[in-house]
Amino acid sequence: MTTIGIIGGGQLGRMMALAGHNLGLRFRCLEPGADSPMGQVAEQITGNYDDAGALMRLASGCDVITYEFENVPIESANHLAHIVPIYPPPLALEVAQDRWREKSCFKQLDIPTPSFARVNGAEDLDEAIAAVGGLPAVLKTRRFGYDGKGQWVLRGNIDVAAAQTDLRKHEVTTGYIVEGFVPFQRELSILAVRATTGEVAFYPLVENQHQDGILRLSRAPAAGAPQALAEDYANRVLTHLGYVGVLAIEFFEHDGQLIANEMAPRVHNSGHWTQDGAVTSQFENHLRAITGLPLGATAARGCAAMVNLIGSTPGPAAILAIPDAHLHLYGKSPRPGRKLGHINLVAPDATTLENRVKQVQALALALIDG
Ligand code: AMP
Repeated sequence: MTTIGIIGGGQLGRMMALAGHNLGLRFRCLEPGADSPMGQVAEQITGNYDDAGALMRLASGCDVITYEFENVPIESANHLAHIVPIYPPPLALEVAQDRWREKSCFKQLDIPTPSFARVNGAEDLDEAIAAVGGLPAVLKTRRFGYDGKGQWVLRGNIDVAAAQTDLRKHEVTTGYIVEGFVPFQRELSILAVRATTGEVAFYPLVENQHQDGILRLSRAPAAGAPQALAEDYANRVLTHLGYVGVLAIEFFEHDGQLIANEMAPRVHNSGHWTQDGAVTSQFENHLRAITGLPLGATAARGCAAMVNLIGSTPGPAAILAIPDAHLHLYGKSPRPGRKLGHINLVAPDATTLENRVKQVQALALALIDG
């Protein structure tokens, strides 16, 4: 029986394991925390991601290793690669972990990005802002930023001075990047998948709404979106990185152009709708890709939306009373700002879908008011 090792024990690993059980796959995760979302549904090796002994226990008897977050220590990934195949390739991790390398990779592949420049610290911020065409601009840490953390939107000189003060206070040794601000019309993402056999497939573009840097709502397929262009860009990245598995690329759509913001070398929150709204889910296709199985169809079944449950969740009965609503909970205890689960909504047409989205949003609002 094929055993998959997963670095990380969060909800993405949990959903991979749940999807993979149907394919007869076994799972084991490496995770430092107790009672992890994935540990509740599969074997868990409890240890740090850079603990050599724990990594060996993860790899022992595994046929293939994958990961469910992109801050996996690169040394751990390279070490495991000598023992057992690890997909996506560690090179993809290296590129995605560093915003400067990531944007440079897009640029090298002729994929449009916001203008960008490296920043070492407070002293060279002004020069970098000038290099990206002036204000407004967005300053980001090169590493370890997620869900809008480690970011400063710079609209005027007051913001620049405040950011410089912050940078002097908490000097980040791995540096920063500053980007020109893109006045985008909407945010779109594409999920692409490439198998060990070289077979590729692409899901329809997804439209994403963020609040406070956290994804709240996705709709798929995104109406009127430049699908062929997104597939072309994604294919360039897949080929360049010798990629295997699911890859997500987030774009800003600006006047019909797609501007690449970032990539995630893993299954992605904006692909959760595929569990109920596509022929094959992103989780199953990731597993098919890394185990050399044929990929499943990526077409949407009608219109779909995904609403993230953040901080608290309405009771399941109210959610499940909505037609074609599917609840996915991660087994986490509630905490402000924490992703606890999501609801997938599927409908035969866009109007029906919007009604169902409104019903879910009303439940979430009732929760805040109550
Ligand atoms: P990120 O962590 O890079 O995904 O950024 C989080 C959010 O900040 C994005 O989803 C955008 O809404 C916004 N953002 C990031 N970079 C830019 C940019 N260069 N121009 C405009 N908005 C941005």
